[in-house]
Amino acid sequence: MNRTDTDTRKILAILAHPDDESFICGGTLAKYASEGVEITLVSATRGEMGRRMGNPPYLNRESMPAARELELRQACMCLGIRELLFFDIRDKTVEFADEENLIARVAALIHDIDPDVVLTFHEKLGGHPDHCAIGKATTAAMRRTGHRSKLYFITFGDAMKHPARFGYTRKDVIQVDVRDHLEAKLAAFRAHRCQTEIDEWVWLPDKEALLKLSQHEYFLKGNTETPTQDLHDLF
Ligand SMILES: [Zn+2]
Repeated sequence: MNRTDTDTRKILAILAHPDDESFICGGTLAKYASEGVEITLVSATRGEMGRRMGNPPYLNRESMPAARELELRQACMCLGIRELLFFDIRDKTVEFADEENLIARVAALIHDIDPDVVLTFHEKLGGHPDHCAIGKATTAAMRRTGHRSKLYFITFGDAMKHPARFGYTRKDVIQVDVRDHLEAKLAAFRAHRCQTEIDEWVWLPDKEALLKLSQHEYFLKGNTETPTQDLHDLF
């Protein structure tokens, strides 16, 4: 497909739970949204099995899905994410979902949205079975579609500052400077109120809370055949 400079750039983020987008890569999503990039977020579940139920607890298993959806919608507004979709897989069961069906759903989305960048979890380094499962299905869907978009795995905190620990090199990692977008990230943390109420730092005065957030977010390249690029930009 021929693309011109006037084409809108697009990111498709396929994650597992409400809050993955904010806690893990919120600064990067806010940065690209501020540059006019169209972002579609998929949350495979509604996070209804989360152990945090407000502080003091005010949610239950019945009220949780709607509450978390509302919080996620608010977080999307904070970050500038335009489109939010749910796969409606039950929380904590993504690894048991029919894999073929999941791959087909992701592949259909990739086909429809035609993103420039796809973000998901690494199937082994995802840190939670739901994360690993959605990451595995998305990676498989990318392979199956042969789509041109760049695939990246989101990573936690500053861990990928030292990629050798995980068997990778600096060239495998994109480091995005999010210093100018930490206010948006903090607002998104606060939007996920039932999950963050218990974290005192989130509710410190802005100036102090912002200091707790990392200045960079790290992404592991998912399609290693991509030629060497600017290691500070997902596009
Ligand atoms: Zn998660």
